[in-house]
Amino acid sequence: MPVGSINAPGLVAPLRPAAASGGFDVLVVGAGFAGSVLAERLASQLGLRVLIVDKRTHIGGNAHDRYDDAGLLIHPYGPHIFHTNSADVFDYLSQFTEWRPYQHRVLASVDGQLLPMPINLDTVNRLYGMSLTALQMEEFLASMAEKIERVKTSEDMVVSKVGRDLYNKFFRNYTRKQWGLDPSELDASVTARVPTRCNRDARYFTDTYQAMPRAGYTRMFERMLAHPNIKLMLNTDYREIEHLIPWRHMVYTGPIDSYFHYRHGRLPYRSLRFEHVTLPQERFQEVGTVNYPNDYAYTRITEFKHLTGQAHAQTSVVYEYPCDEGDPYYPVPRPQNAEVYRLYQEEADKLSNVSFVGRLATYKYYNMDQVVAQALATFKRLKGELSANETLRPATGASATALEGSTAAAVLAAAPARTRRELPASGATLNGTTAS
Ligand SMILES: Cc1cc2nc3c(=O)[nH]c(=O)nc-3n(C[C@H](O)[C@H](O)[C@H](O)COP(=O)(O)OP(=O)(O)OC[C@H]3O[C@@H](n4cnc5c(N)ncnc54)[C@H](O)[C@@H]3O)c2cc1C
Repeated sequence: MPVGSINAPGLVAPLRPAAASGGFDVLVVGAGFAGSVLAERLASQLGLRVLIVDKRTHIGGNAHDRYDDAGLLIHPYGPHIFHTNSADVFDYLSQFTEWRPYQHRVLASVDGQLLPMPINLDTVNRLYGMSLTALQMEEFLASMAEKIERVKTSEDMVVSKVGRDLYNKFFRNYTRKQWGLDPSELDASVTARVPTRCNRDARYFTDTYQAMPRAGYTRMFERMLAHPNIKLMLNTDYREIEHLIPWRHMVYTGPIDSYFHYRHGRLPYRSLRFEHVTLPQERFQEVGTVNYPNDYAYTRITEFKHLTGQAHAQTSVVYEYPCDEGDPYYPVPRPQNAEVYRLYQEEADKLSNVSFVGRLATYKYYNMDQVVAQALATFKRLKGELSANETLRPATGASATALEGSTAAAVLAAAPARTRRELPASGATLNGTTAS
């Protein structure tokens, strides 16, 4: 049913309080960071009844982790390293997990050497066989940098900072593989994320808080969602149930173009194919991630044991192959895409009973901490709105009478067993084992 018809006159049945009808105050679409934070806040702080639905068979969205057949904790959707400068975000998540301090390190395979990435003093000295000091490196980069009047593209961004040789060796081919586009065709913001350092700091991130959830992300999500007011429905597209179950507000964290039935066209995403390999050895590589900018079809290899700290006789690595088809991972930052997104955003702004939150719903490359911050900000806004309006939006497409007697439990019970799952009691682990 087209979204616009939800608000169409004639379909609005008498409003009833959510609790009395057995419906939900909030339908949350997506059990990733955006959806789970909002579900947890709305249930624990406002006492609202929340149904969280995900079309995947697990919680955690792209941050989901699980144990592979060998018992190694892996990230099926690619390596997720937590880092933030926000004390609020870190404190909030600390309610649901203990942390293992971890500072990510990345090496890039260039000209037959493994060199620190982001580019630092050691990278330059080893690459060119020099022994520059920090000050000399600044002068060296300034002499290599090209003067560019208006920095518009990713190429401009890098070349204007470090010059063409470092750009060609470290950035150009990596970006082409990652995005399927030349850096000259991509927004400057893509490479603005990668700093250059004139010191020997080899950490990939410099944020105040850098740590991994000690028992993994999925365990943290389980704890967030283990509230009696939260019901979870997996393996279910929200469109299968949005008209069957009463709710009065929707938190939507899926792709915004899909919500509006692609009426302004598809927003392009870059995807990844992950090749997970378990190896009969304790260690595969020196650091968490090694980038391969110039060779092979994959961009990088990550060894999970660096991230998780797990002690195990074997090890598990993931190769990332960028591609166009597949799950939507990276919004493609180009002006024409921003324009299409603006059209969707205008429509979204008109819907007072739906909040669009998270990476896919706002078509932005956000890290996990940014999504948590966005969800906490959305909660603050919704707090006033939802407690002020005590009425329930009736399900459309089903008669008010049919819904009168239905309870959430009944609807969930009616769903096929594989489409519903209550959360395990707090204290149980999803996979029966935890990372050490
Ligand atoms: C390869 C990769 C590596 C990353 N590494 C890092 C990192 O190291 N550090 C970091 O901070 N961030 C990292 N990120 C970013 C991080 O994954 C995101 O910030 C975060 O997962 C976004 O959370 P979200 O809730 O917005 O979206 P998601 O995690 O994508 O959750 C959205 C959920 O909505 C569900 N959904 C969509 N449509 C429907 C529908 N119709 N019905 C029901 N459910 C639906 C999806 O199944 C999904 O589970 C990485 C991302 C990728 C792709």
